[in-house]
Amino acid sequence: MAETAATPASFGILADDPAYNATLAARIDDTDTLARVWIKPDGAPTPFEPGQYVTIGVKVGEKFVQRPYSVASSARALDGGYELYLRLVRGGAFTPLVFSLPVGHRLRVLAPKGKFTMEPADTRVQIYVSSGTGIAPFVSMARTLADDGAPRRAIYLNGVSYVSDIGYRELIEGWEKSGSYPATYVPTISRPADPLNTGWTGRTGRVESIIQSALRDLGVNASEAIAYLCGNPEMIVAAESELAA
Ligand SMILES: Cc1cc2nc3c(=O)[nH]c(=O)nc-3n(C[C@H](O)[C@H](O)[C@H](O)COP(=O)(O)OP(=O)(O)OC[C@H]3O[C@@H](n4cnc5c(N)ncnc54)[C@H](O)[C@@H]3O)c2cc1C
Repeated sequence: MAETAATPASFGILADDPAYNATLAARIDDTDTLARVWIKPDGAPTPFEPGQYVTIGVKVGEKFVQRPYSVASSARALDGGYELYLRLVRGGAFTPLVFSLPVGHRLRVLAPKGKFTMEPADTRVQIYVSSGTGIAPFVSMARTLADDGAPRRAIYLNGVSYVSDIGYRELIEGWEKSGSYPATYVPTISRPADPLNTGWTGRTGRVESIIQSALRDLGVNASEAIAYLCGNPEMIVAAESELAA
């Protein structure tokens, strides 16, 4: 693919700049368009709360091109850097650039921010509703609770287009199978007729359309749960009314 095969230089990304304060420490490409990356600040990483985001950027000419990304790693595991879960948006202003970066490339990271954080004392069942990479902050929440020794029953409802896009499947289904964290993963595929999804026997449709049936099947009473939503704006609006119902 042109964009993923592109080099930083082909976008005019500066290899170094005095404002760069971090390194792309590691990168795992889950698919051609989904990657987990680890951004390691030069000094001690600024602590964050699960649910918060960092803004990463590279310099092109005189200007920084930058975007915010939710942190997926545990807030108690800062040493490896901030783990982010990125989707390549073809033709986008920033993601083709960041997908061109090799491990070891320098960049700028701004301190974690954001008010979309976990209710600290709310131990009810956690319903994490996401579309696509919107699952990232919820991975951070459960990892942090696990590290704190304070697990909370978690239900991940995640909507994606293709089976290969089901994010953090190994991690969350691993928790489920081993019982090491009380999570249930309920992914749903919005394009079941697409040949790329052949063989999928799980739920289908957009994530908002499975909320009520999934909670009913799992025996979760919405009044005994707290829901967090992260994803595209249309999903948020639709999921809100499903949850209210
Ligand atoms: C608080 C916050 C946290 C975020 N966390 C994440 C995260 O964890 N992972 C992540 O991948 N993104 C996340 N985003 C989105 C991210 O900041 C960028 O907007 C996204 O990566 C697209 O950037 P771009 O410059 O490549 O595209 P742009 O040039 O900004 O957009 C190009 C076009 O693509 C559309 N577009 C933007 N995003 C998508 C998408 N995902 N799918 C399809 N079309 C899209 C835009 O509406 C626009 O029309 C987050 C955004 C916010 C505000």
